[in-house]
Amino acid sequence: MPKLFSGPEDRRIKRALCIVAHPDDIEFYCAGAVLLMTRHGAVVDFVLATSGDKGARDASKSRAKVARIREREQEMAADVLGVKRVAFLRHPDAELVENLELREEFVREIRTSKPDVVFTFDPNVPYRFHPDHRVVGRVALDAAWPSARDPLTFPKAGRPHETAEAWCFGGVQPTLEIDVGDVLSKKIEARLAHSSQTRSPASLMRRWRAIARVEKFHQVNLR
Ligand SMILES: [Zn+2]
Repeated sequence: MPKLFSGPEDRRIKRALCIVAHPDDIEFYCAGAVLLMTRHGAVVDFVLATSGDKGARDASKSRAKVARIREREQEMAADVLGVKRVAFLRHPDAELVENLELREEFVREIRTSKPDVVFTFDPNVPYRFHPDHRVVGRVALDAAWPSARDPLTFPKAGRPHETAEAWCFGGVQPTLEIDVGDVLSKKIEARLAHSSQTRSPASLMRRWRAIARVEKFHQVNLR
């Protein structure tokens, strides 16, 4: 069995793909690891299942308008993180369900990006976890292994690809802890790009300097 990657700076990691539910999920859970990867030249892509079209505090804007704003914010955050490709699948926010259509979409993204590492939600979480996060975690893992690997599964969704590892965040039993102190200010800058989701940038900055320095993952071998 191949040795697990030692962390985001492992030079064997050439490509990674983050599969998440909403704009700002990446900044919250794994932006430091993404920065440590792009800093050494790895290519990282993002896939968002929804555009967070219900993420507004009042009903004055249409869902389409909220989605447009949040996609733009995610693209600005990606820019800060050194990420060029952001795919929006545009499913309705808070309505994701586990089905084969979503799995095929994720398979297509995995086969396009050809990642060594897939970042996604740990689906093994206690109650009171956003249902979209649970669905994305389960479907992304099923897409990475075995669906994307097997040529007879979703043959129209691109050429097969074997992903080495999944790094799952938000769970209760992390096995990999990463100190992202070196890139913390850029991580916070990326989070602040989501200005529609930020009431007070100053207090967010203060809080994140204290709490956002360590990122935790459950590292899963998929080979
Ligand atoms: Zn989310």
